[in-house]
Amino acid sequence: VTSLLTFTRTKKGRYEWIQLVGHPGTFKEGFHDGYILKELCEYERYCCEVLQSDRLKHFVPKYNGTVKDEEGKSYIEIEDLLAPFNDPCIMDCKIGVRTYLEEDLEKSERDPVPRADLYEKMIAIDSSAPTEEEHDEKKILKPRYMIWRETLSSSQELGFRIEAIKKSRGLMSKEFQRIKYREDVRKQIMEFLANSVPRATRYLNRLLELRSTCLRSKFFETHELIGSSLLFVHDANRASLWMIDFGKTRKLSSDIHITHSQAWQRGTHEDGYLIGIDNLILLFQDIIDELTSG
Ligand code: ATP
Ligand code: MG
Ligand code: MG
Repeated sequence: VTSLLTFTRTKKGRYEWIQLVGHPGTFKEGFHDGYILKELCEYERYCCEVLQSDRLKHFVPKYNGTVKDEEGKSYIEIEDLLAPFNDPCIMDCKIGVRTYLEEDLEKSERDPVPRADLYEKMIAIDSSAPTEEEHDEKKILKPRYMIWRETLSSSQELGFRIEAIKKSRGLMSKEFQRIKYREDVRKQIMEFLANSVPRATRYLNRLLELRSTCLRSKFFETHELIGSSLLFVHDANRASLWMIDFGKTRKLSSDIHITHSQAWQRGTHEDGYLIGIDNLILLFQDIIDELTSG
Protein backbone atom coordinates (compact mmCIF):
# COMPACT_ATOMS: atom_id res chain seq x y z
CA VAL A 1 0.00 0.00 0.00
CA THR A 2 1.70 3.15 -1.10
CA SER A 3 0.29 6.51 -0.28
CA LEU A 4 1.03 10.13 -0.88
CA LEU A 5 1.08 12.53 1.96
CA THR A 6 2.36 15.87 3.00
CA PHE A 7 4.35 16.29 6.17
CA THR A 8 4.23 19.89 7.24
CA ARG A 9 7.03 21.07 9.46
CA THR A 10 5.41 23.04 12.20
CA LYS A 11 8.33 23.94 14.46
CA LYS A 12 10.10 26.23 12.07
CA GLY A 13 7.46 26.69 9.46
CA ARG A 14 10.21 27.60 7.04
CA TYR A 15 9.56 24.68 4.74
CA GLU A 16 7.30 21.71 4.59
CA TRP A 17 8.48 18.17 4.20
CA ILE A 18 6.75 16.14 1.58
CA GLN A 19 6.69 12.36 1.39
CA LEU A 20 6.05 11.23 -2.17
CA VAL A 21 5.57 7.50 -1.75
CA GLY A 22 5.88 4.85 0.92
CA HIS A 23 3.80 3.91 3.88
CA PRO A 24 2.21 6.73 5.85
CA GLY A 25 3.58 7.03 9.35
CA THR A 26 7.01 5.81 8.29
CA PHE A 27 8.50 9.29 8.60
CA LYS A 28 8.60 11.89 11.37
CA GLU A 29 10.31 15.15 12.05
CA GLY A 30 13.91 14.62 13.14
CA PHE A 31 15.42 15.38 16.54
CA HIS A 32 17.98 17.59 14.84
CA ASP A 33 17.35 20.45 12.51
CA GLY A 34 17.55 19.39 8.87
CA TYR A 35 17.00 15.72 9.72
CA ILE A 36 14.03 13.40 9.50
CA LEU A 37 13.23 10.07 11.14
CA LYS A 38 12.41 6.96 9.15
CA GLU A 39 11.10 3.78 10.76
CA LEU A 40 14.03 1.50 11.50
CA CYS A 41 14.74 -1.37 9.16
CA GLU A 42 18.02 -3.06 10.07
CA TYR A 43 19.01 -3.64 6.42
CA GLU A 44 18.53 0.04 5.67
CA ARG A 45 20.31 1.19 8.82
CA TYR A 46 23.30 -0.93 7.93
CA CYS A 47 23.42 0.56 4.40
CA CYS A 48 23.14 4.13 5.67
CA GLU A 49 26.02 3.51 8.06
CA VAL A 50 28.32 1.85 5.53
CA LEU A 51 27.54 4.46 2.88
CA GLN A 52 28.76 7.30 5.13
CA SER A 53 32.32 6.19 4.51
CA ASP A 54 31.91 4.98 0.94
CA ARG A 55 32.70 6.92 -2.24
CA LEU A 56 28.93 7.28 -2.69
CA LYS A 57 28.54 9.32 0.49
CA HIS A 58 27.79 12.55 -1.38
CA PHE A 59 24.91 10.82 -3.13
CA VAL A 60 23.07 9.62 -0.01
CA PRO A 61 21.42 11.41 2.92
CA LYS A 62 23.69 11.96 5.90
CA TYR A 63 23.01 9.42 8.64
CA ASN A 64 22.92 10.36 12.28
CA GLY A 65 22.34 7.00 14.01
CA THR A 66 19.17 5.53 15.46
CA VAL A 67 16.74 7.09 17.92
CA LYS A 68 13.62 6.03 19.83
CA ASP A 69 10.42 8.03 20.14
CA GLU A 70 8.20 8.38 23.25
CA GLU A 71 6.51 5.07 22.44
CA GLY A 72 9.81 3.26 22.20
CA LYS A 73 9.64 2.86 18.44
CA SER A 74 13.03 2.95 16.68
CA TYR A 75 14.01 5.15 13.76
CA ILE A 76 17.04 6.05 11.72
CA GLU A 77 17.79 9.76 11.67
CA ILE A 78 18.68 10.84 8.14
CA GLU A 79 19.28 14.12 6.39
CA ASP A 80 16.18 15.90 5.12
CA LEU A 81 17.16 16.34 1.50
CA LEU A 82 14.42 18.92 0.97
CA ALA A 83 15.70 21.24 3.69
CA PRO A 84 17.75 23.60 1.48
CA PHE A 85 14.97 23.94 -1.10
CA ASN A 86 12.23 26.45 -1.48
CA ASP A 87 8.91 25.00 -2.61
CA PRO A 88 10.67 22.07 -4.29
CA CYS A 89 9.57 19.94 -7.22
CA ILE A 90 10.27 16.29 -6.49
CA MET A 91 10.50 13.11 -8.54
CA ASP A 92 11.04 9.62 -7.11
CA CYS A 93 12.43 7.13 -9.66
CA LYS A 94 12.74 3.53 -8.57
CA ILE A 95 15.93 2.14 -10.10
CA GLY A 96 16.52 -1.39 -11.38
CA VAL A 97 14.95 -4.02 -13.61
CA ARG A 98 13.08 -5.74 -10.78
CA THR A 99 11.68 -4.49 -7.50
CA TYR A 100 11.46 -7.69 -5.46
CA LEU A 101 14.19 -9.82 -3.93
CA GLU A 102 14.84 -13.32 -5.22
CA GLU A 103 14.16 -14.54 -1.70
CA ASP A 104 10.69 -12.93 -1.79
CA LEU A 105 9.94 -14.78 -4.99
CA GLU A 106 11.14 -18.02 -3.38
CA LYS A 107 9.01 -17.34 -0.35
CA SER A 108 5.96 -16.81 -2.55
CA GLU A 109 6.65 -20.11 -4.30
CA ARG A 110 6.53 -21.98 -1.03
CA ASP A 111 2.89 -20.95 -0.81
CA PRO A 112 1.34 -22.87 -3.70
CA VAL A 113 -2.25 -21.81 -3.05
CA PRO A 114 -3.70 -19.81 -5.98
CA ARG A 115 -5.35 -16.61 -4.79
CA ALA A 116 -8.62 -15.06 -5.84
CA ASP A 117 -7.60 -11.60 -4.61
CA LEU A 118 -4.59 -11.56 -6.94
CA TYR A 119 -6.81 -12.61 -9.84
CA GLU A 120 -9.13 -9.71 -9.04
CA LYS A 121 -6.20 -7.28 -8.87
CA MET A 122 -4.91 -8.55 -12.19
CA ILE A 123 -8.14 -8.25 -14.14
CA ALA A 124 -8.80 -4.84 -12.62
CA ILE A 125 -5.65 -3.69 -14.45
CA ASP A 126 -5.77 -5.92 -17.52
CA SER A 127 -8.61 -8.37 -18.10
CA SER A 128 -6.64 -10.08 -20.87
CA ALA A 129 -3.63 -10.83 -18.66
CA PRO A 130 -4.79 -14.13 -17.08
CA THR A 131 -4.43 -17.36 -19.05
CA GLU A 132 -7.49 -19.39 -19.93
CA GLU A 133 -6.89 -21.67 -16.98
CA GLU A 134 -6.49 -18.75 -14.63
CA HIS A 135 -9.74 -17.28 -15.93
CA ASP A 136 -11.47 -20.60 -15.31
CA GLU A 137 -10.11 -20.85 -11.80
CA LYS A 138 -10.42 -17.14 -11.09
CA LYS A 139 -7.23 -17.52 -9.08
CA ILE A 140 -3.57 -16.60 -9.55
CA LEU A 141 -0.36 -17.86 -7.97
CA LYS A 142 1.63 -15.25 -6.06
CA PRO A 143 4.95 -15.61 -7.96
CA ARG A 144 3.15 -15.39 -11.28
CA TYR A 145 1.48 -12.20 -10.05
CA MET A 146 4.78 -10.70 -8.85
CA ILE A 147 6.50 -11.29 -12.18
CA TRP A 148 3.53 -10.01 -14.17
CA ARG A 149 3.26 -6.82 -12.11
CA GLU A 150 6.81 -5.87 -13.06
CA THR A 151 5.88 -5.79 -16.73
CA LEU A 152 3.35 -3.01 -16.18
CA SER A 153 5.93 -0.29 -15.76
CA SER A 154 9.11 0.71 -17.52
CA SER A 155 11.25 -1.15 -14.92
CA GLN A 156 12.00 -4.22 -16.98
CA GLU A 157 12.71 -2.35 -20.24
CA LEU A 158 14.37 0.84 -19.01
CA GLY A 159 15.72 -0.26 -15.64
CA PHE A 160 13.78 2.42 -13.81
CA ARG A 161 10.27 3.70 -13.35
CA ILE A 162 8.77 6.94 -12.15
CA GLU A 163 7.12 6.29 -8.78
CA ALA A 164 5.77 9.74 -8.17
CA ILE A 165 6.19 13.37 -9.14
CA LYS A 166 5.27 16.46 -7.20
CA LYS A 167 5.39 19.69 -9.09
CA SER A 168 5.75 23.01 -7.36
CA ARG A 169 2.72 23.58 -5.12
CA GLY A 170 0.95 21.16 -7.36
CA LEU A 171 -0.70 17.84 -6.97
CA MET A 172 1.23 14.65 -6.50
CA SER A 173 0.37 11.59 -8.44
CA LYS A 174 1.35 7.97 -8.35
CA GLU A 175 -0.38 7.03 -11.58
CA PHE A 176 3.14 7.15 -12.99
CA GLN A 177 3.88 3.63 -11.83
CA ARG A 178 2.10 2.28 -14.88
CA ILE A 179 4.00 4.29 -17.44
CA LYS A 180 5.83 1.72 -19.51
CA TYR A 181 7.13 3.20 -22.74
CA ARG A 182 10.22 5.38 -23.17
CA GLU A 183 8.37 8.12 -25.05
CA ASP A 184 5.78 8.46 -22.26
CA VAL A 185 8.49 8.53 -19.60
CA ARG A 186 10.33 11.21 -21.58
CA LYS A 187 7.21 13.36 -21.75
CA GLN A 188 6.72 13.15 -17.99
CA ILE A 189 10.33 14.08 -17.29
CA MET A 190 10.12 17.00 -19.76
CA GLU A 191 7.11 18.28 -17.88
CA PHE A 192 8.80 17.78 -14.53
CA LEU A 193 11.74 19.88 -15.79
CA ALA A 194 9.38 22.58 -17.03
CA ASN A 195 11.54 22.75 -20.17
CA SER A 196 14.48 24.28 -18.33
CA VAL A 197 17.80 23.52 -20.04
CA PRO A 198 20.04 24.61 -17.10
CA ARG A 199 18.02 22.39 -14.77
CA ALA A 200 18.16 19.40 -17.13
CA THR A 201 21.89 19.96 -17.51
CA ARG A 202 22.46 20.01 -13.75
CA TYR A 203 20.56 16.75 -13.34
CA LEU A 204 22.45 15.21 -16.25
CA ASN A 205 25.83 16.16 -14.77
CA ARG A 206 24.82 14.74 -11.42
CA LEU A 207 23.70 11.49 -13.11
CA LEU A 208 27.03 11.22 -14.93
CA GLU A 209 28.90 11.82 -11.67
CA LEU A 210 26.75 9.22 -9.91
CA ARG A 211 27.48 6.70 -12.64
CA SER A 212 31.23 7.11 -12.46
CA THR A 213 31.15 7.07 -8.65
CA CYS A 214 29.13 3.83 -8.66
CA LEU A 215 31.83 2.21 -10.77
CA ARG A 216 34.47 3.08 -8.16
CA SER A 217 32.34 2.33 -5.09
CA LYS A 218 33.07 -0.64 -2.85
CA PHE A 219 29.50 -0.57 -1.60
CA PHE A 220 28.12 -0.69 -5.13
CA GLU A 221 30.43 -3.53 -6.07
CA THR A 222 29.31 -5.70 -3.17
CA HIS A 223 25.57 -4.99 -2.92
CA GLU A 224 22.37 -5.76 -4.76
CA LEU A 225 20.15 -2.67 -4.85
CA ILE A 226 16.47 -3.57 -5.08
CA GLY A 227 13.60 -1.09 -4.78
CA SER A 228 15.98 1.79 -4.16
CA SER A 229 15.16 5.19 -5.64
CA LEU A 230 16.78 8.30 -6.98
CA LEU A 231 15.14 11.38 -5.51
CA PHE A 232 15.27 14.34 -7.93
CA VAL A 233 14.73 17.70 -6.26
CA HIS A 234 14.78 21.20 -7.72
CA ASP A 235 13.50 24.67 -7.08
CA ALA A 236 13.99 27.96 -8.95
CA ASN A 237 17.69 28.09 -8.08
CA ARG A 238 19.07 24.58 -7.84
CA ALA A 239 18.65 20.96 -8.84
CA SER A 240 20.17 17.78 -7.44
CA LEU A 241 19.50 14.10 -6.88
CA TRP A 242 20.29 11.48 -4.25
CA MET A 243 20.02 7.73 -3.71
CA ILE A 244 17.38 6.82 -1.10
CA ASP A 245 15.47 3.82 0.27
CA PHE A 246 17.79 0.92 1.09
CA GLY A 247 15.27 -1.38 2.76
CA LYS A 248 15.75 -4.04 0.10
CA THR A 249 19.44 -3.52 -0.54
CA ARG A 250 21.46 -6.62 0.37
CA LYS A 251 25.11 -7.50 0.68
CA LEU A 252 25.95 -10.10 -1.96
CA SER A 253 27.43 -13.33 -0.73
CA SER A 254 31.13 -13.44 -1.55
CA ASP A 255 30.74 -16.02 -4.34
CA ILE A 256 28.32 -13.81 -6.27
CA HIS A 257 29.47 -10.95 -8.47
CA ILE A 258 27.04 -8.77 -10.39
CA THR A 259 27.55 -6.30 -13.24
CA HIS A 260 24.46 -4.15 -12.42
CA SER A 261 24.06 -3.83 -16.18
CA GLN A 262 22.67 -7.14 -17.35
CA ALA A 263 19.10 -8.33 -17.51
CA TRP A 264 18.05 -10.38 -14.51
CA GLN A 265 17.85 -14.15 -14.58
CA ARG A 266 16.86 -16.31 -11.64
CA GLY A 267 19.84 -16.85 -9.38
CA THR A 268 22.10 -14.16 -10.86
CA HIS A 269 21.01 -11.43 -8.41
CA GLU A 270 21.53 -8.85 -11.17
CA ASP A 271 19.63 -5.69 -10.26
CA GLY A 272 19.96 -3.66 -13.46
CA TYR A 273 20.86 -0.53 -11.50
CA LEU A 274 23.22 0.76 -14.20
CA ILE A 275 20.68 -0.02 -16.93
CA GLY A 276 18.40 2.47 -15.19
CA ILE A 277 21.11 5.09 -14.73
CA ASP A 278 22.22 4.76 -18.36
CA ASN A 279 18.67 5.11 -19.66
CA LEU A 280 18.11 8.17 -17.47
CA ILE A 281 21.33 9.68 -18.83
CA LEU A 282 20.20 9.02 -22.42
CA LEU A 283 16.78 10.50 -21.71
CA PHE A 284 18.21 13.66 -20.19
CA GLN A 285 20.61 14.02 -23.13
CA ASP A 286 17.68 13.61 -25.57
CA ILE A 287 15.66 16.16 -23.68
CA ILE A 288 18.49 18.69 -23.66
CA ASP A 289 19.06 18.12 -27.39
CA GLU A 290 15.41 18.65 -28.10
CA LEU A 291 15.16 21.79 -25.96
CA THR A 292 18.26 23.37 -27.47
CA SER A 293 17.56 22.48 -31.10
CA GLY A 294 14.80 25.08 -31.11
P1 ATP B 1 8.72 2.24 -0.35
O1 ATP B 1 9.63 1.14 0.10
O2 ATP B 1 7.28 1.88 -0.43
O3 ATP B 1 9.20 2.93 -1.61
P2 ATP B 1 9.64 3.61 2.07
O4 ATP B 1 8.74 3.58 3.25
O5 ATP B 1 10.84 2.74 2.08
O6 ATP B 1 8.77 3.40 0.77
P3 ATP B 1 11.16 5.79 0.95
O7 ATP B 1 10.97 5.25 -0.41
O8 ATP B 1 12.51 5.79 1.56
O9 ATP B 1 10.09 5.14 1.94
O10 ATP B 1 10.67 7.30 0.96
C1 ATP B 1 9.36 7.64 0.58
C2 ATP B 1 9.32 9.09 0.14
O11 ATP B 1 9.75 9.93 1.22
C3 ATP B 1 10.26 9.43 -1.02
O12 ATP B 1 9.63 9.24 -2.27
C4 ATP B 1 10.56 10.88 -0.76
O13 ATP B 1 9.52 11.70 -1.27
C5 ATP B 1 10.55 10.99 0.75
N1 ATP B 1 11.92 10.85 1.33
C6 ATP B 1 12.55 9.71 1.66
N2 ATP B 1 13.78 9.95 2.19
C7 ATP B 1 13.92 11.29 2.17
C8 ATP B 1 14.97 12.19 2.61
N3 ATP B 1 16.11 11.75 3.14
N4 ATP B 1 14.76 13.53 2.46
C9 ATP B 1 13.61 13.98 1.91
N5 ATP B 1 12.61 13.21 1.49
C10 ATP B 1 12.74 11.88 1.63
MG1 MG C 1 10.83 4.02 -1.90
MG1 MG D 1 11.52 1.12 0.91
